[in-house]
Amino acid sequence: MEVCYQLPVLPLDRPVPKHVLSRRGAISFSSSSSLFGAPDPRQLSQRRGAISYDSSDQTALYIRMLGDVRVRSQVGFEPEGRGSYPYLCIDFRTLHCERLRRLLSFQRYLHSSRLLWGTTHLNPLHILDEDYIGQAKCMLEQVGSWNFDLFLFDRLTNGNSLVTMTFHLLNQYGLLELFQLDMVKLWRFLVMVQEDYHSLNPYHNAVHAADVTQAMYCYLREPKLAKSLTSCDILLGLLAAATHDLDHPGVNQPFLIKTNHYLAKLYRNSSVLENHHWRSAVGLLRETGLFSHLPAEEGLKMERQLGSLILATDISRQNEYLGKFRTHLNQDDLCLSNASHRHFILQMALKCADICNPCRPWELSKQWSEKVTQEFFHQGDIEKKHKLEVSPLCDSQRNSMGNIQIGFMTYVVEPLFAEWGRFSDTRLSQTMLGHLGLNKASWGGLVQQERPSSPDELEPSSPC
Ligand SMILES: [Zn+2]
Repeated sequence: MEVCYQLPVLPLDRPVPKHVLSRRGAISFSSSSSLFGAPDPRQLSQRRGAISYDSSDQTALYIRMLGDVRVRSQVGFEPEGRGSYPYLCIDFRTLHCERLRRLLSFQRYLHSSRLLWGTTHLNPLHILDEDYIGQAKCMLEQVGSWNFDLFLFDRLTNGNSLVTMTFHLLNQYGLLELFQLDMVKLWRFLVMVQEDYHSLNPYHNAVHAADVTQAMYCYLREPKLAKSLTSCDILLGLLAAATHDLDHPGVNQPFLIKTNHYLAKLYRNSSVLENHHWRSAVGLLRETGLFSHLPAEEGLKMERQLGSLILATDISRQNEYLGKFRTHLNQDDLCLSNASHRHFILQMALKCADICNPCRPWELSKQWSEKVTQEFFHQGDIEKKHKLEVSPLCDSQRNSMGNIQIGFMTYVVEPLFAEWGRFSDTRLSQTMLGHLGLNKASWGGLVQQERPSSPDELEPSSPC
């Protein structure tokens, strides 16, 4: 069976939207209530997707709610360098700031390129303080370990985990030579990617992207993939992991829709964030000219495949992908010599990497849970402040971290990783499922110690 790629909302033969190429349309919000208009109720009912709000299926409902739970936690919603307000297209006041950021970025680029002089290999660790180089290098020797502590690595790299990790992996695979990638362009691209993640988001920031990239690397090394993936697959898989949440605003799609954000209109309320992440990545690829030496058709194909991978991370389409995966496994018809099948497996691998936090050792998993809950509750606080309906799981007074995690694991993570374990029945899959079970039990124990929760958080279908 041929696997169809998810086609983009906007065809690639059209120009990348102006907000991407101008790089002034990145998402951020202002706390100024005067900027908030009354939400249009028609918009609230226009959300498209595979999962109906009216469905009685618990899994579907929970996934729908998770679509509601990606929340911004940024304190105060100060406009960032590439900010725009939710109801305006461009915040012109940030343009000066934009130039400043670009200058800083350029300076970092010069600094890093200077380090190249006289060397044949770009070593990102050169930018680190001497004291940390040894430890960060030592960690990279274990980059394929499922216990890899990304938080520690980010500290050791002085907040440059995404640049350092991605460059190291691309270099390790020999992809710079194979694709004749210009080291300085690549370095500049990665620095800009890292910068375009919102560092004030507790969860959807560059550290999450680096974590997903590391997880993706672990999956790429699994025997079934390692023996069949091409260099192009690996390059796309790693770049998609690094860019899959680019410029994430820390709020979810329903928030953008109900607040009439221009991106919701641009992408017609469908995979709004994922389309933006992809278009932002394409904007950086073109700005840095990373693929400019490739034939135009090849470059467009890479961009299209990158989009197909990033769009697969839309959690509201989980059942669609999972159903397709299950059908393939039941029919045992996956043939990894087939390019479209390999691409589908890359999509599934990226989806797993994106939500693998509950499959990590408890000490790491718990930290991710705290961060994502912080974002959820921050969106709820913003919604309360502006008298918007509080999104499911975002109300800190009605939901608890433990119950959110147990629901997430039960309805989203377990079904996905059970199928992944069928596809790739390896020690890593067993390890991940083992951690998942243990972590769920730990959250269960903690919930027991908490005071009785309100009924709605135990019933995922109940509106908040
Ligand atoms: Zn993500």
